[in-house]
Amino acid sequence: MENQYEVLRQECLSCQKCPLAQTRNHVVFGAGVPNAEVVFIGEGPGENEDLQGQPFVGRGGALLDKYLQAVDLSREKNIYITNMVKCRPPQNRDPHPDEVANCIGYLSRQLEIIRPKIIVCLGRIAANALIEKGFKVTKQH
Ligand code: SF4
Repeated sequence: MENQYEVLRQECLSCQKCPLAQTRNHVVFGAGVPNAEVVFIGEGPGENEDLQGQPFVGRGGALLDKYLQAVDLSREKNIYITNMVKCRPPQNRDPHPDEVANCIGYLSRQLEIIRPKIIVCLGRIAANALIEKGFKVTKQH
């Protein structure tokens, strides 16, 4: 499983499939444990995420980590966290449908490898895209 995960990660890190590749600083593939039972999915990387190559960092990420810690969840221990699109849309705009369409294969394959019991969508775009793809969404924020 770890090998499959790493192959996919490397493929994604060099991806040029959509125009977001031209404006990103880093691909933000995901973070956490590859056998997580809970996966959190946001819409796309923001400025700090793009600069650091990690999902949900900065103030929002620290707050999320704090809430997760309160229920004994952490990306170091038992969850995985990623986004619908792996590169930052400029000015934090919503990802365009064609960008989501180009990128969602990475998310599908991440979920196939991780096989979580619960998927938590952080935001309407992530939830809608997963519903359209036929994923079972357990909880929506
Ligand atoms: S957003 Fe996704 S499809 Fe577009 S370049 Fe980044 S990794 Fe590739």
